[in-house]
Amino acid sequence: MWTVKVVGVSVLAVSVTVELLNWLRRRYKKRKPLNEVLFFPSEVACVEHLLSPSAPCYCALPHGVDTSFSRLLRHVLSASSSLDLCVFAFSNTDLCRAVLSLRKRGVVIRVLSDKDYIAINGSQIGPLRKAGICVRSDGGAVYMHHKFALVDGSLLISGSLNWTLTAVQANMENLIVTMEPELVRPFVQEFNRLWELSDPARTLSNGVQTELERTAGHD
Ligand SMILES: [Zn+2]
Repeated sequence: MWTVKVVGVSVLAVSVTVELLNWLRRRYKKRKPLNEVLFFPSEVACVEHLLSPSAPCYCALPHGVDTSFSRLLRHVLSASSSLDLCVFAFSNTDLCRAVLSLRKRGVVIRVLSDKDYIAINGSQIGPLRKAGICVRSDGGAVYMHHKFALVDGSLLISGSLNWTLTAVQANMENLIVTMEPELVRPFVQEFNRLWELSDPARTLSNGVQTELERTAGHD
């Protein structure tokens, strides 16, 4: 009788230990950092399920298709605290809707764009500014030619892709999406540096203008 009880308790102890170990392994298992490459032009498909999840869409485009653009949108929409965007041209209305929906969710958004492109017809910078999003552009003589975004300061989206419809649907472009800290960190630093240099209160200074012209890239 005692032997049966001891065996029973031992079996119970072993199964509890195994369950506990499995729980600990799941809890503390290191998540693999996200690394992804996206190529464009993207297949054209409906993205309303990402932008307006509660409203059914009956448009003629294919639905439920995973494309480079839908993946880009998902990454942008994954922001929970901040989005820092540094992009030469921003005229894509779907990406604008994504940024505006982040704004509604309380995500802090900073946008750096090229001063000449901001004024071009179709630029979405106007709607962003109207929504209260802070947009800055440098006052230097060179192009602000970057195309990168930082999601929550920990996910980098960078490549040749401007945030335009032509770039998404017609051009051959690439994007690297990564959470590698060694790659993300310099972009965070560079964004903050450019953000400070593009402060309207500072761009009046000749010294700042000179530094921008000396350090910024040109195509
Ligand atoms: Zn649709």
